[in-house]
Amino acid sequence: MIQTVLGNIEPSKLGKTLAHEHFILDLDWVRKDGYSYIFDVEEVIPEIKQMMAQGIESAFEVSTIDMKRDVNKLKEISLKTGLNIVCSTGYYLSEYHPEWLNKASEEEIAEVYIKELTSGIDGSDIKAGLIAEIASSPKEFVGNEKKILKAAGIASKKTGFAVSTHTGRVNAIETIETLLNEGVNPDKIIIGHQDLIDDHEYHLSLLKYGVNIAFDTCGKTVYMKDEVRALNALKLVEKGYEDHLLLSNDVSRHTYFTSFGKKGYLAVMDSVVPLMREYGIKEEIINKFLIDNPARIVNNPLVKE
Ligand SMILES: [Zn+2]
Repeated sequence: MIQTVLGNIEPSKLGKTLAHEHFILDLDWVRKDGYSYIFDVEEVIPEIKQMMAQGIESAFEVSTIDMKRDVNKLKEISLKTGLNIVCSTGYYLSEYHPEWLNKASEEEIAEVYIKELTSGIDGSDIKAGLIAEIASSPKEFVGNEKKILKAAGIASKKTGFAVSTHTGRVNAIETIETLLNEGVNPDKIIIGHQDLIDDHEYHLSLLKYGVNIAFDTCGKTVYMKDEVRALNALKLVEKGYEDHLLLSNDVSRHTYFTSFGKKGYLAVMDSVVPLMREYGIKEEIINKFLIDNPARIVNNPLVKE
């Protein structure tokens, strides 16, 4: 079963799914730029409704504890829109980490994840269905970042839930090997933000471990053109890796919304998927990226009913 904020659903009920989104988060408490947040349910709902009008039925909401994740608001959003939302447990980059992580063991951090996956979050009965987005800094693992990753491995191995990461090029192999060393099933690993790296051979070097990668910053054309994302997806399909790719937009601030004249949560379906079709990727393969792969990875056979 797949654990959503409204309870468990069969994998076949997930439908088209974005694998790395944020509907409620606060990065501004660290960045202090005045716009890196999404607080307002009534502001995000019209954006989600537009996304659902494109055929999206589900999303993995990867906001972490230290991004000020709010599962009650996610539940309200799900109730008001009908979107299936899988929420997450985890910690983000070092500068967001709470003090207590300094003294905590990997096992103690894993206990927090396990509690949120198996009994509930913030005193509610809402459970996380994913361990995400477990981050490492661009150049190296900083502070407690290795510890929160190992803890994710421990929790995944114990509970069967998938781990999704925020990973740059330098740390990718180390991230994968750390999780595998903790006994995580490689198919329960999603290495995030890999569309930001325009290097097919590098993508193959990750996929040979049996893990999944996410092209999850679709529409952020300041960092990478959507044409490059679609082309790199095609190259992976040609090598037979269509079962290991996921798509998303990673909207991390309300100023990316359509109400600010931006693409909001629409870039995957409005820009990248049409480019994929244009480059000859078949509909059934696009449906693997959007339907089959997310459902398979986040389905946890250990969760019954
Ligand atoms: Zn993110």
